[in-house]
Amino acid sequence: MVHITTGELFREAIRQETELGKQAKPYYDRGQLVPDHLTIAMLLERLSQSDCARGCMLDGFPRTLEQATALDEALTREGKGINRVLYIKVPEDELLSRLSGRWNCRQCGSVYHQRFQPPRQAGRCDQCGGELYQRDDDRPETVRKRLEVYFQQTAPLIDYYRERGKLVEIDGNKSVEEVAEELLAAVDVP
Ligand code: AMP
Repeated sequence: MVHITTGELFREAIRQETELGKQAKPYYDRGQLVPDHLTIAMLLERLSQSDCARGCMLDGFPRTLEQATALDEALTREGKGINRVLYIKVPEDELLSRLSGRWNCRQCGSVYHQRFQPPRQAGRCDQCGGELYQRDDDRPETVRKRLEVYFQQTAPLIDYYRERGKLVEIDGNKSVEEVAEELLAAVDVP
């Protein structure tokens, strides 16, 4: 299934210095959410591409109630809808240490952690040999800001999707293998 990550779309736009990238960068750098009108337009444009015609998995979107209702409206117009919403629960101090030790592959996007999931060779991806880098917004002070923004603006979506019978809760405070297994079971759409 196509995997769409709004954070990655923003990182690409910022790397390429597009108009959207220039508008998003100040928010991104401070760990704040990019304004809804920019984020919604970017996401709906991506969803209109042919590879999404048979469905996709959204990651990092929606993050506000306005984004959630815009998504519902756009999908309803096309006779489509959301199957499931996966809520991966992890305690705050654990999130802090996971994000601040995270390393990403520049080439294939694989994710490592300096303590919990180190690569075989420091600075190199096990999968493709690509260079590993640390995201600027994974610095501890920006991570704290991102968590604050999450609790204020994104946490209300848990009830929004629970009330609509879409929410599946996953215990994310387990090993990578156990969480992966729970996630796969949750998306096993018949
Ligand atoms: P992520 O990779 O999901 O942690 O996102 C990194 C950054 O991209 C966030 O801190 C925001 O600045 C921006 N971003 C990603 N997704 C969204 C969204 N749905 N709404 C607003 N801003 C977003």
